[in-house]
Amino acid sequence: LRLDATHHPDALSWVPSANAADTDFPIQNLPFGVFSRVGDDKSHVGIAIGNHVLDVAACHARGLFSGRSARAAEACTTPSLNALMALGRPAWTALRGRVSELLRSNHRDARTHRQFLEPCLIPQGQVEMRTPADIGDFSDFYASIHHATNVGSMLRPDQPLLPNYKHVPIGYHGRASSIVVSGTPIRRPRGQVWRGEGPPVFQASTRLDYELEVGFLVGPGNALGEPVPIDRADDHLFGVCLVNDWSARDVQQWEYQPLGPFLAKSFATSISPWIVTLDALEPYRMPGPERRSADPDPLPYLDGPNVRLSGTFDLQVEAWLTTAAMREASIAQVRLSASNLHNLYWTPAQLLAHHTSNGCNLRPGDLLASGTVSGPTRDSRGCLLELTWRGTEPLRLPSGEERRFLEDGDEVTLRGYAVREGRPRIGLGECRGVILPASPA
Ligand code: MN
Repeated sequence: LRLDATHHPDALSWVPSANAADTDFPIQNLPFGVFSRVGDDKSHVGIAIGNHVLDVAACHARGLFSGRSARAAEACTTPSLNALMALGRPAWTALRGRVSELLRSNHRDARTHRQFLEPCLIPQGQVEMRTPADIGDFSDFYASIHHATNVGSMLRPDQPLLPNYKHVPIGYHGRASSIVVSGTPIRRPRGQVWRGEGPPVFQASTRLDYELEVGFLVGPGNALGEPVPIDRADDHLFGVCLVNDWSARDVQQWEYQPLGPFLAKSFATSISPWIVTLDALEPYRMPGPERRSADPDPLPYLDGPNVRLSGTFDLQVEAWLTTAAMREASIAQVRLSASNLHNLYWTPAQLLAHHTSNGCNLRPGDLLASGTVSGPTRDSRGCLLELTWRGTEPLRLPSGEERRFLEDGDEVTLRGYAVREGRPRIGLGECRGVILPASPA
């Protein structure tokens, strides 16, 4: 483990809200995002601390960084995280270390730091979050064996899990242009649907679903033709966010063979605005996925001591729902899914190493998503397709309503946080989207 003073469990900040027990953003977290002040179009790189945002470029302008941390802060004077992502881990670690020092309450210069930094802090209520990076490419995996088994058993009861699953991380190329930041409303898509007989029809999807996923943002890329070895894959991962891979199941079922998902998923993908760095997640590492004795060893290019000893993270992820009627009646949102990244069959490093293994080049800001993070239990199923078993077992909501799939006005909020005994909880913030009616035909 690469732990340093930034991870110290007792560290406190002079920003009071950062010390609240329920904050997602204590001083041990320090996630990066891109924000604009309300009413201003300009985008700035920020770091979340409690319920504030630290404007990194504004701190840099005050001369608070030097050496490697200054070079990293310089990369934060652009309106996206791509330049910082391209610099690599030593730069990220140096910047994180210095920001942690500047925000710490027990530093010998804390009083001076506070004087200099207070003008660079903006309440989160006064900012709008933007897409954190220019995401050039988006690939979505299928890394939960529980999700793959559940979905497979609906489609192929005799052979739920295909024979390749335990050998090769399955994924597809997603659509980067329709990635939107949390809070962006999601328009119900129209598409071609086959109702089981007769010709297909073109209509608004009636089986709209969410998918609870974790995204991994690429740091430094790799040159075309030069795979990233598994033991260096973590150094190419900048951090993680929440991903909602909205899916039109009726469209998907008709179009997916033989080339996989296409328009059923490309209409929108939501991401959370704050990127929690792999540095921040170091204390929450845990051994890679358990393999049963009958399971094959990964091929050597996907295997190594890092994968086995500390390949994944204890990262709890959740999906919550409110309906328009629930909001009307002031009924609290209800949790639909509660799962954990360690339920995945493949680790983030394995996904990245596999993606580059044919020579494919990844670039800073590329997004690799995990696929639906379902676990082995019923409440850990990460989408409605699984939770309602294709709509055959509707969910009953506290409002008395039933749901098979999402209705107009439904709002899905994803949340995530890392937990470890004796350490503060660090959160991913939220990834939210409300469903709008389909546009007029
Ligand atoms: Mn997905």
